[in-house]
Amino acid sequence: MSDPVREGVLFVVSAPSGAGKTSLCRELIDRYPELRQSVSFTTRQPRSGEVEGKDYHFVEEDVFRQMVAENKLAEWAEVHGNCYGTSLNTLQTAAEQGVDLLLDIDFQGAAQLKQNYQHGVFVFILPPDFAELERRLRGRDTDSDEVIEKRLKNARREISEAGWYDYLVVNDDFQTALDQLSAIVQAERCRSQRNQQTLAKLTGE
Ligand code: 5GP
Repeated sequence: MSDPVREGVLFVVSAPSGAGKTSLCRELIDRYPELRQSVSFTTRQPRSGEVEGKDYHFVEEDVFRQMVAENKLAEWAEVHGNCYGTSLNTLQTAAEQGVDLLLDIDFQGAAQLKQNYQHGVFVFILPPDFAELERRLRGRDTDSDEVIEKRLKNARREISEAGWYDYLVVNDDFQTALDQLSAIVQAERCRSQRNQQTLAKLTGE
């Protein structure tokens, strides 16, 4: 919620491909419409149905490189051959307005943000096991065997390095995972360090 007595919370959600992050983030925004989803910049082509400015800001590679050179991105990474990045301006505006921001970004970008945004809340979504992850990736029916093998290999590496995240949510049962993500949002909003102004207002200090 846009709440001037509380600073905005930066929620960063990452997951290996196929763990269900996109659906979970979508449902989370449905539950908390005041949670603003950050719109990333990307050099990848829009997929059918994707809308400029809503799903992504779609830009040419030279424009993206220029943004990197001018330090306009808070983080960026190359994922599956395309560049993706979060604008510094998006983070600054949300912080100033006291708006909670949700970033659905890959683990490389999350690790970069962790350096500069220690107060951010970093969540990693896990599959219940690798057999289920493979089943989900094959079930999407969009990728070749070679691509699926590559995604599984990447998933093993990402998961082996995910111990630094603040929260690990296992997406076995979707509703349970969504409830856990919701609990994280609610608890983090109540953290006393984020609500010092509320105390000061009540005590008149
Ligand atoms: P897709 O092309 O399927 O929309 O996204 C591919 C991957 O890029 C996903 O893991 C997504 O989380 C990640 N991604 C999307 N936006 C950003 C961003 O701004 N920065 C980083 N580092 N990753 C992003």
